Amino acid sequence: MAWSSILDQERVVSTLRRALTQERVAHAYLFHGPEGVGKQAVALEFARALECTEQTAEACGQCQACQKTRRMVHPDVHVLFPYPKGTDEEDVAERIQRLGENPYAAVDFVRRPSLSDPGETSNKQVMYHIDRVQEDLLRPMSFRPGEGRYKVALITDVEHMNETAANAFLKLLEEPPPQTVFLLTTSRPEQLLPTIVSRCQRLRFDPLLPESIESALQEREGMEADAAAMLARMADGSYSRALDLVENDDLMTSRELVLEYFRAAYSQKVEPLSSCVQEIKGQGRERVKGVLRLMLRWVRDLVLYRSMGEDAPLVNVDQAEAVARFCDNLPEADLEAMVGLVEEALHLTERNVRTQLVLTALAQALAQTMRGQPVESLYVPLPTAERRAVQAESATG
Ligand SMILES: [Zn+2]
Repeated sequence: MAWSSILDQERVVSTLRRALTQERVAHAYLFHGPEGVGKQAVALEFARALECTEQTAEACGQCQACQKTRRMVHPDVHVLFPYPKGTDEEDVAERIQRLGENPYAAVDFVRRPSLSDPGETSNKQVMYHIDRVQEDLLRPMSFRPGEGRYKVALITDVEHMNETAANAFLKLLEEPPPQTVFLLTTSRPEQLLPTIVSRCQRLRFDPLLPESIESALQEREGMEADAAAMLARMADGSYSRALDLVENDDLMTSRELVLEYFRAAYSQKVEPLSSCVQEIKGQGRERVKGVLRLMLRWVRDLVLYRSMGEDAPLVNVDQAEAVARFCDNLPEADLEAMVGLVEEALHLTERNVRTQLVLTALAQALAQTMRGQPVESLYVPLPTAERRAVQAESATG
């Protein structure tokens, strides 16, 4: 483990290592940057180094303190998540355990309302409520450290603190007890109280390099090279997103479905198309959006291949042959228009227009653009009420 377990983020890691060796540790740090790039992983590693009895720039991994921080049972290290009211304590404890095992895993309640079902979504509001902030943060942090040199609180997704909670926390932050370190993480620093931000040393995290994600998927998840390369490019610099994709068994099936859909669209025959549409539709609205996003990546790969040939950095590397064949066989296809049409279909689906209408209209429009005939936009024969709703939403949003 230790710092070598952190992907990229060299600038941040060297700043923290320096703070440790020079014994100039700030009272509060704000780690900000995109989701899934290792903010929590760095925070945990820093907490481990702070508690390690060797007192160097890195947790030794051997001492009593290191064993406890690794098992997430060190009494001076507190990890907090925002969660919906009424959440089971055991659920929270299990998430903290999982975070200890893999600090890049998505264990928060926003992206993963249910630990056991990665596909589940929820409308419950995820929040740090004042009673929890008092119980889990203000009270424990006001005592001196029990075993270690520091008391550390890792407050993840800190933008989810409501105003009362944030103000109560601010009081503690303004007059921090000695030997306390607050580690705040957020991907939305603009939503924080400026008075909180100004009390923290800010460290910005960058998206990860696709190569780093690719080798981590191979080394840590035992993935095949081709699959790792593809997922790394689909993950947009986020290792957590790549892990999410690994867990999503349906991804490969959905990619097959995308190819089938394009073929069916091109054929302009009712039959392969209508059963393909039924199959996509049957997966539920969230998955339909996922399939449309895959279509978008597929068409963007076509655009890349046409302009760069075999050197194109395709997302669907394992489908390079199919991409090449498509481009060679359909030199007339208006690929830019295809990108626009799929984006429009995604937009309509997000606005709850019926999947069947959208996918059928998209297939007709794609068939024309594949033959080089211009299509301005999708023609979706919406019932009047639905059309009004979409227009109203488009006007406001
Ligand atoms: Zn140690």
